[in-house]
Amino acid sequence: MTQFSPYWWQDQPQYSNDNEPPSNADIVVVGAGYTGLSAAITLAKSGASVVVLDAEDIGFGASTRNGGMLGSGHKASTAQAIKRYGEKTAQEIHKEANSSLKFTIKLIKNNNIDCELQECGRLRTAWIPKHQTDMANNMNDLKSIEHFDSHMVDKSSMHKHINTELYFGGQLYEGHAAVHPRKLHYGMLQLALDAGAKVFGGFRVDNIEKVTESFDNGFRVYASAQVISCKKVLMATNGYTRAGLSKYLARRILPVPSFIATTEDIGTERVASLLPGGNCMVETRKRFCYYRATPCGRRIMLGTRAAMHPITPQQALPTIKKMLTGIFPSMEGVGISHCWTGFTGFSFSNLPSLGEHKGVYYALGYCGNGVAMAPYLGHNAALKLLNPKKQHTVFEKTLLNTKFYYHGNPWFLAFSSVIYRGQDIIDGYLSNRAKNN
Ligand SMILES: Cc1cc2nc3c(=O)[nH]c(=O)nc-3n(C[C@H](O)[C@H](O)[C@H](O)COP(=O)(O)OP(=O)(O)OC[C@H]3O[C@@H](n4cnc5c(N)ncnc54)[C@H](O)[C@@H]3O)c2cc1C
Repeated sequence: MTQFSPYWWQDQPQYSNDNEPPSNADIVVVGAGYTGLSAAITLAKSGASVVVLDAEDIGFGASTRNGGMLGSGHKASTAQAIKRYGEKTAQEIHKEANSSLKFTIKLIKNNNIDCELQECGRLRTAWIPKHQTDMANNMNDLKSIEHFDSHMVDKSSMHKHINTELYFGGQLYEGHAAVHPRKLHYGMLQLALDAGAKVFGGFRVDNIEKVTESFDNGFRVYASAQVISCKKVLMATNGYTRAGLSKYLARRILPVPSFIATTEDIGTERVASLLPGGNCMVETRKRFCYYRATPCGRRIMLGTRAAMHPITPQQALPTIKKMLTGIFPSMEGVGISHCWTGFTGFSFSNLPSLGEHKGVYYALGYCGNGVAMAPYLGHNAALKLLNPKKQHTVFEKTLLNTKFYYHGNPWFLAFSSVIYRGQDIIDGYLSNRAKNN
């Protein structure tokens, strides 16, 4: 029987705080995912009193639902970044992607966070031959900005990494890694608590009121009948940002769902025969799949955008199964133990952003790439709150713009789902044509 809740949640400890939140704090952080907790760790270590509030259970959001792939990519390509921000800023954007990966791996290692870190590398697999050429060119361009460990894998060597005939090669990012996302979240939560932050679940922030321009007690935060006076507020709500609290941010962050499933236990030998390289895998096709072995090495976990708009995991399951058996035909008939969904937060610039609106700070917009970036940006958000005059990261320069047609209800994503179905047909055709050549 498939369970429609995250595989990562089973048998994991759940922290809950039965105390009442205090009525005063230096800083209130809204959202207790990687961003909010990372900010809380840095802020509390600096001596600030910090309260983190989450509307749901602590860790309800994407930070405990994701694929656990720790990498350095951006949704926006370097060419797009150059076009919009110029060459120098685009270079910084690339460098900080690498910094985010280093930051999060260091956070895990220096604090001995037990999150089953595997420095296994990630293989980006080419759907058609042109993607292989494009990736090689892009890799060389990026290496000329700053070296990172990556090389191309040609089609004839793909069998060392994966047991499928589907791809035309790939690019291996050797420094990328994998974690158990819920254990990473739990480890970060412990660090935040140890540093003195107070973290509460079940407190939905309904309103943030600016009381005075003065530095002391500048805001009143209203959450489930509690009122907290504080100097500063950080919004760390990413894909769970809704217009009820911040129309400004809800108009700028699209909640785009992603869907994941894990197979039943198929044994380590079978998993190793399908993924002999032990890498995380991400495809270049439009409706890309990302997949890996679970940390125990006994199951395959595969995620994809089964739809661009919210549907239930039950509705998503047939598409996920189809994608899985499309890659590994031998998986036909294998049971699915868990299937679930969660929201990623997309900015229109396809890049993360750290900024401030009417005195309220925000750090969000990871576009599906937040396992390394969210802890990094949360940390930088904390530095910004502590020292607002200084620029701490290039993501203070990235735009958080909106579109005239978007007011917080992403009605158009249902149309994107239809477009994606069409794109699947085109991608299938292109792949078959390349194979027959
Ligand atoms: C299915 C899925 C797979 C993914 N896979 C990967 C991957 O393999 N690699 C990768 O790099 N990234 C991946 N991501 C993205 C990554 O998980 C996110 O970018 C990252 O976790 C964002 O962290 P966060 O702390 O900013 O937000 P979240 O972890 O989403 O936390 C936001 C929190 O804000 C809370 N909140 C919202 N509104 C309020 C309010 N009014 N009051 C109080 N609290 C509020 C929510 O309850 C939520 O808990 C994936 C995401 C999903 C959904």
